[in-house]
Amino acid sequence: GPKERLALTDGLGNRRAPVGQEIGVAAKGRGVALQAVAGGPPDERLERICLHNLLASANEAIYFKDLENRFILVSRGVALHHVERQLRLGLADGPEPSPEDFIGKSDLDLFDLPLALEWVAEEQHIIDTGEPMVNVLERDTYFHPDAWFETSKSPLVDDEGTIIGTFGVSRDVTARVKAEQAVILREAQLRAVLDSSPDAITCYSPEFRYELVNAKALALLGRPVEDVVGRTDADLGRPDKVVTLLSDGLERVLATKRMCEVEYSTEAGGATSWWHVRMVPQLSEGGEVTGVIAAARDLTELKVAQSVLAHQANHDPLTGLANRLALTDKLRHVLSGLQQKPGRIALLFIDVDNFKVINDARGHDIGDKLLVEVADRLTRVSRRADTVARLGGDEFVMLAGGLSEDDDVDVLAMRVLRSLRKPFVVGGERLGVSASIGVVTTSDPQAKAGDLLRDADIAMYRAKEQGRDRFALFHPVLRESATERHRLGRDLRLAVENNEFFLVYQPIFALPSNALAGVEALVRWQHPKKGVVPPAKFIPLAEKLGLINALDGWALGEACRQLSDWDVNLPPRERFTMAVNVSARQVAASGFVDLVRATLADHNLEPARLSLEITETGMITEFDRTGEALEALVEMGIRVALDDFGTGYSSLAHLHSFRMNTLKIDRSFVFQLDGAGKENAIVAGVVAMAHALGLEVVAEGVETATQLGKVVAMGCDFAQGFYFARPARPEMIAELVSQGRPGLEPVSPAGAPRSAACC
Ligand code: C2E
Ligand code: CA
Ligand code: CA
Repeated sequence: GPKERLALTDGLGNRRAPVGQEIGVAAKGRGVALQAVAGGPPDERLERICLHNLLASANEAIYFKDLENRFILVSRGVALHHVERQLRLGLADGPEPSPEDFIGKSDLDLFDLPLALEWVAEEQHIIDTGEPMVNVLERDTYFHPDAWFETSKSPLVDDEGTIIGTFGVSRDVTARVKAEQAVILREAQLRAVLDSSPDAITCYSPEFRYELVNAKALALLGRPVEDVVGRTDADLGRPDKVVTLLSDGLERVLATKRMCEVEYSTEAGGATSWWHVRMVPQLSEGGEVTGVIAAARDLTELKVAQSVLAHQANHDPLTGLANRLALTDKLRHVLSGLQQKPGRIALLFIDVDNFKVINDARGHDIGDKLLVEVADRLTRVSRRADTVARLGGDEFVMLAGGLSEDDDVDVLAMRVLRSLRKPFVVGGERLGVSASIGVVTTSDPQAKAGDLLRDADIAMYRAKEQGRDRFALFHPVLRESATERHRLGRDLRLAVENNEFFLVYQPIFALPSNALAGVEALVRWQHPKKGVVPPAKFIPLAEKLGLINALDGWALGEACRQLSDWDVNLPPRERFTMAVNVSARQVAASGFVDLVRATLADHNLEPARLSLEITETGMITEFDRTGEALEALVEMGIRVALDDFGTGYSSLAHLHSFRMNTLKIDRSFVFQLDGAGKENAIVAGVVAMAHALGLEVVAEGVETATQLGKVVAMGCDFAQGFYFARPARPEMIAELVSQGRPGLEPVSPAGAPRSAACC
């Protein structure tokens, strides 16, 4: 329908006086003024003039009707409204209606039927009951599309009190309604904004009672809005601590008229939540504080993140141990503690031996798990007050305080070594691991944490040099070698790029004929300043720096090239094998078998001409992957030798686990054959055992006639050592071969080395 009634809402109509009354008051007021002018009671004529003036000028639609709904009198506003409607409907061709045009007509004559009937019914109701209709707000599309009218209708009563019709006033209140709607809309928007805030926003009265609370605040307080408004935090039973903090803050805002910030935490269900509250005064125009707006922000996530970050900043994510930062802090703390309570502390720098080999060969997953296990064991052997830290990679540090006697440290270091020697079971596999430990101790409160760490690291390197799986105590002399090593490492990288390496070859002889059976290729580094550097000085470094694969790959290629060169240029009957040392890491690396096959093909060599030497330690650490690679190599016809037997685990049991052809007995064993000790029996036993397994045996480092005599007697198949020849340049080997001797002459009585060619 064209009309839409709106129930009067609070704040809209209720506070206003009914229209009829307003008019009454206005008329009375004027009446008073006229009375004063005329000097007597207003007569009927004057009243008519008043009414006429009122109706002629009023923009409001004022009308009087008889009992039949016919207009008796109308104001100018009725005609104006009518014109507006005509215009809107495009009917405004006729002359502008004057108020007189309405007189005598009824709504049914003038307006659309539904509307007219409604009005007629309204007025009939008033006539029937005598009850007025006061300030009814209507949306009235009759006059224009979005018009609002406020209408009052009353019975028209004569002097005797008889109802003789109706009268009414209708005002266009569109502007007012629109303004009110806009206010309502804005309020709703503000409410939505408030409620969408993640902060708990509240307004406090100056008595600290809640006046307004947003959705988040209600959630925080855990109560419906009607329970909250008008109450204080204490009323709501909030924890005393919180109430005190908040009211202190509110009082400060009242006193200073300045913003104030408060932070508090609450516990609920075992969880702590943190809140930060900003309290801002609401000031009146006169500068009085009329309230305080408090916005509480949930800091819990931030606090949790902060503590996680703090933990992360101090801990190694993999093992959960202290990290370098935390260790350094702790070390400083412990050192300064020595000032009050003199004592001695020890720093153990623990580096897992061959960890890189395991990590490269088995994958980082296994490597990581192993590190976690190592961390676990270190934690277990440490005392409660000690700190175990991981510096990164396979480097761990144990900080032990409160030491008194010197041997304390040895005992501790030994305990750590022992704890790591037991095999680790990682991902269902057993891994043999050892560590090298550098130990530094001090009782000097002035010692620098960084210096101590560096010294322990230096000592650790010493332990590595001495053969790993041991500890070394720091000594200032070691510092020099550390700087030297640092320089060497830098040079070594360059050396790989510039190819500063060359190979020397040490002949290997068959026993007992002493016939040349092959050579072993040994790498040398032609350092631009230092001259020739022996492999013991740079192979471990190359392993540490990840340069070993490049180096071994080069050595393999160069040795094969040299061998095929000799094949072409030397008499055909002097064919012999080439032994090449490869790091276990290289063997386990993917693609190694293919590399070997390709290298042999490149140089047109039979696989049986090549022997690959791998140390026992490396082999065992590698286990699976190495095992597979060795299997493939042996299958291909390449010879595989276990190098340095006797220096590592020396376990004959291991010999069963791998496919191989040759066992090389380390020179430290051969060396001891000069005496009459139990080594004789051990070596004899090893040789017998190896033969039983179908392996050939090479005695390394034969330096004397006595040693040679013994290894021959024990049945060794080959011998190698300074007694026969030192590693030599290829030309020397060519010369040796060209001499065409079937074998060397019998051992010289003096037992002196026969060959002086040395590199
Ligand atoms: P290794 O495989 O045990 O090589 C034999 C070492 O013993 C050589 O030392 C050789 O010069 C030395 N030697 C031979 N006969 C005697 C002797 O009668 N008395 C004494 N005292 N020593 C003797 P070198 O050349 O210094 O090599 C040391 C180690 O470096 C080698 O031990 C090998 O493990 C490693 N190495 C050498 N070349 C390479 C290479 O190309 N790749 C890899 N990964 N390692 C290599
Ligand atoms: Ca070797
Ligand atoms: Ca060896």
